[in-house]
Amino acid sequence: MFKKLHRQMTLFCTLVTGLILVAMSCICLTIAESGIKDVSYSSFINNLNSLYSYLENQSVITHTWIAQMEYNYNMQMEIKDTGNNLVFQSLNPSSEGEKLITQAKDMALQTYGLDVHNFNKNSVLSKHKEFKMTGYDGELYYASAALIPKVSGYLSITVISPFTTQKAQIIRQRLLFVLVDLGAVILLGIFSWLFTRQMIRPLKENRDKQVQFIASASHELRSPLTVITSSLSALKIAGKEDFLRFIHAMESEAGRMARLINDMLTLANADARNWAIHREPVELDTLVLETYEKFEPQAIVKKLNFAFHIPDQKMPALLCDPGRIGQVLSILLDNAFAYTPAGQKVDISLSFELGRFRIAVTDTGPGIVDKNKKAVFDRFYRVDSSHKDKEHFGLGLCIAREIVKLHKGKIWIEDTPGGGTTIIFQLPGT
Ligand code: ATP
Ligand code: MG
Repeated sequence: MFKKLHRQMTLFCTLVTGLILVAMSCICLTIAESGIKDVSYSSFINNLNSLYSYLENQSVITHTWIAQMEYNYNMQMEIKDTGNNLVFQSLNPSSEGEKLITQAKDMALQTYGLDVHNFNKNSVLSKHKEFKMTGYDGELYYASAALIPKVSGYLSITVISPFTTQKAQIIRQRLLFVLVDLGAVILLGIFSWLFTRQMIRPLKENRDKQVQFIASASHELRSPLTVITSSLSALKIAGKEDFLRFIHAMESEAGRMARLINDMLTLANADARNWAIHREPVELDTLVLETYEKFEPQAIVKKLNFAFHIPDQKMPALLCDPGRIGQVLSILLDNAFAYTPAGQKVDISLSFELGRFRIAVTDTGPGIVDKNKKAVFDRFYRVDSSHKDKEHFGLGLCIAREIVKLHKGKIWIEDTPGGGTTIIFQLPGT
């Protein structure tokens, strides 16, 4: 499912970003091409101007200069003196060239009314017309026709300049854009692949966790349910003496189920972020003392050396949910009492430093090895040795972490010097 989603998202991202890139490139390309066309046309006009002013001012026209012009500016020219006497014929005369020159003359006459064979004798000013023309071969040409008066008559000039060089430049440019776009789309594809993988990872992890949670929860619920159903069946045939035993078993398993469902609901609410906490100013030392008193009888029964440490000086009140913070303390003490053997020590201590409250539950029990220090906060995680313990589901510490997180605090595990576990949680003061 996630592989398909990954593929689809990669495709979608690449397609959208690729399309935007191609559209932007096309706009840039169009602007660049029209720039090339404008520059080439204006340079054609400039070249013509220098050609015409040379022809106007010189009485003797050297072939070399004109041939140079034709070569340098990629033009084909025909210059005639007073109608017929040919002054200059293109360097590379060809029937195609002649045809195009004739086409340019016709176009100058028909479209602009400039007849290069008919000079008005009274005119003393040069006449010329520049235009773009699609040649009979389908190619684009810049063309010009001009009449320049001379002492003894006039010069009629026809010039054509093919657009081929610029066209080649445009094709080269288009090819470059295609290559660059292609490269960019490939890079975008790779980037989208990595990016979407990164985006999907937390979703996948979340789903895996949920699947794991449901599997573990079902597993945990199944065992008390089995005890209850088998006890019910046994009740039908049980004698008076066994009756109470089965009732007790069912009662205890129902209680276990109720506790598990309660814990799961707490976590589900934390996940859905609709866990209401009711903050009020709380004297934490009083809360610690109350919790200590609640657990004292249990410590006597379990033969544990149980003590508390609170600072002598007065501490500020903490704005928190006393019920929830009390729950965290109970979870930590529950663990310490459950996993610490008789005759050992369990301590609860409170301190206030640099505007932060710090509560630590220390025991001298078996301790938690480093590789499990993070994992014990995961749902349904129990360290191997306690796996068979039916009273524990592996939910206590993760509920404690959710509550501490809700109070913008943090919780972590340290080793007790000399052996054992110390679980500390820290809450920011108000
Ligand atoms: P639950 O709290 O739901 O009844 P649990 O105690 O197994 O079950 P957690 O409180 O989350 O679950 O603790 C997870 C595991 O961490 C425990 O199973 C235990 O192996 C280990 N652990 C927790 N506290 C201690 C401790 N003080 N000393 C040694 N191991 C501990
Ligand atoms: Mg526990």
